[in-house]
Parts: sequence; structure tokens; C-alpha cells
Amino acid sequence: MAMIYCSDCGAKHSDKAKACPKCGRAVCNTDKSVLVYVLLAFFLGGLGVHKFYAGRSGEGVAMLLMGTIGWALIIPGIVVWIWALVDFIVGLVNMNNPEKIFRK
Ligand SMILES: [Zn+2]
Repeated sequence: MAMIYCSDCGAKHSDKAKACPKCGRAVCNTDKSVLVYVLLAFFLGGLGVHKFYAGRSGEGVAMLLMGTIGWALIIPGIVVWIWALVDFIVGLVNMNNPEKIFRK
């Protein structure tokens, strides 16, 4: 069991803890990279690939459908690209907060 430091308050706690015992900040134990998420959102976001990477497969399926057969209706295809762009920006903003991006 390793000890890690809370990125908010600096308290030392177990890496097995779900949240910091001092300030309650959610602890992210993922080894996934927000950078990969951001790149996926940018290049393949229209197909929801970054959502699958983040463990949000429900949203991923929705984006995949909108980004493929959704183009038959035009609007869903456009919406999914805007959605992916928003995810891309949210990913950039939360580059150091992976717990906000990835589902545990
Ligand atoms: Zn803390």
C-alpha cells in the first residue's frame, strides 16, 4: 500500500482511499492519461472514442450513433462534433484533474 499526497490540501493518505480523509477530494487511481483523452476527443471525438476511453460507454454509444447514422439527419452529426469540442476543452481545463474525466 502506497501513500500519496492529496493534490488539494497536501494531506498524506493511502492510495486505496476513495477520497482524501482531510478535505474529501475524490482520489483518482486511474493510470489513464487526460492527454490521451484530449487527443481522442479532438481526432475521434465525433465517434465518441474518448468516452469509451473514459469509461463512459453510455455516452460513447450515444456519440457513436450520432456521429454515424446521425449524419443522415445532419443535425445530430453537427451536435456530436460540438459535443466532442466541448469535451476536448473540458479535458484541457482538467488536465490535472483526471478524477473529473474518468469514471472509476
Ligand atoms: Zn485533501
